[in-house]
Amino acid sequence: MHVDVPAKVQEIYDAVLRRNPGEDEFHQAVREVLDSLAVVLGRHSEYAEMKTIERICEPERQIIFRVPWQDDSGEVQINRGFRVEFNSALGPYKGGLRFHPSVNLGIVKFLGFEQIFKNALTGMPIGGGKGGSDFDPKGRSDAEVMRFCQSFMTELYRHLGEYTDVPAGDIGVGAREIGYLFGQYKRITNRYESGVLTGKGLGWGGALVRTEATGYGAAFFAEAMMDVRGESFDGKRVVVSGSGNVAVYGIEKVHQMGGTAVACSDSSGYVVDEKGIDLDLLKQVKEVERGRIADYAERRGSASFVAGGSIWDVPCDVAIPSATQNELDGDAAGTLAGNGCRYVVEGANMPATPAAVKAFREAGVAFAPGKAANAGGVATSALEMQQNASRDRWTFEHSEARLAEIMRDIHSRCHETAEEYGSPGDLVLGANVAGFLQVAEAVHAHGLI
Ligand code: GLU
Repeated sequence: MHVDVPAKVQEIYDAVLRRNPGEDEFHQAVREVLDSLAVVLGRHSEYAEMKTIERICEPERQIIFRVPWQDDSGEVQINRGFRVEFNSALGPYKGGLRFHPSVNLGIVKFLGFEQIFKNALTGMPIGGGKGGSDFDPKGRSDAEVMRFCQSFMTELYRHLGEYTDVPAGDIGVGAREIGYLFGQYKRITNRYESGVLTGKGLGWGGALVRTEATGYGAAFFAEAMMDVRGESFDGKRVVVSGSGNVAVYGIEKVHQMGGTAVACSDSSGYVVDEKGIDLDLLKQVKEVERGRIADYAERRGSASFVAGGSIWDVPCDVAIPSATQNELDGDAAGTLAGNGCRYVVEGANMPATPAAVKAFREAGVAFAPGKAANAGGVATSALEMQQNASRDRWTFEHSEARLAEIMRDIHSRCHETAEEYGSPGDLVLGANVAGFLQVAEAVHAHGLI
């Protein structure tokens, strides 16, 4: 079968636009992958014939449900819950839950779509899915968060299972929320099914290093990128946006590797700390007190707080955007490159806009997409599932060594695939092609389902 590749890619994209109106982030994520896949269709006409890409762009199942709950004042609140079970070619649906007011179907689909390829790249047997709610945990009491989580799980539980769909955390969902969700799942099903959720507490089925994994993983990935250029983190100045789980543990590993993280942020602004971010204080403010980044600057003499503004104005050698999607645009990318930044490693999911990625490519800045660089979190979730299945418990050292190995493997796969497909150094293409090929082969093998 002869395939007119550019026309085919455009046709697939047009159909995605037409069938999923208004889902901008989903369109963006699909576009980026499709742009990389032209080279694959040229070599694999069977994927065109069997509409493998079209099938991967269509979620296997999408669940949208009402989540009613009562706040502390007795007022009834209604939120919307989502779970998009995107692709199970490689294993049970796997991916986090995000609780944030910005969550809608398009956001969940973009995240779920990314997750398919990310999970494939880990080499672990996990499919792709994502979920969440427009619930805003900010300012809510523990009791309110618990009631919300219980209501959310009262609907979601029927779709989950250790061999079916295994959620975890994401923005707004950490150990506290996973605890409430797990408790409700156990109560409804009368099953202590450890493998149904990951990111559990260490005392009841959780795995060491899962908390640190996404941030540590991004740092390991950055280290591998530097290694092929004969460099290391030693003496490098690093800017990490965000101050959640990914940012905190990204900074921790950067410091352990000899770099200095000088800035981080939250939605109100950013702090610059020329002495290097004091991690104990950052953890105290963000994790223990659930406070604002401005509180950090108030308590630390060497730090200053900038309200609003762009953290990407801070000069650095390495940038690790770890806040949220589309936080780094073309202008910010130009500023970073102009200030001498040479490595950009996505800790969050799709934090760089397409214009930013283009600007980095043109300026010769080494760029790692989130689906490769932040895969350490979900990879360690798969290690948690492995420990649950064997009723075992690994040491911190063993788990961290496995994570480091997985991140190095992902980097080499992306690096080598980019070379093999004629775009040396292009980790975006390498990640998309390597992830796609693994999924596509399994989709193809399973027949038309
Ligand atoms: N939410 C994380 C991600 O974006 C982790 C998902 C998981 O552990 O299942 O990959």
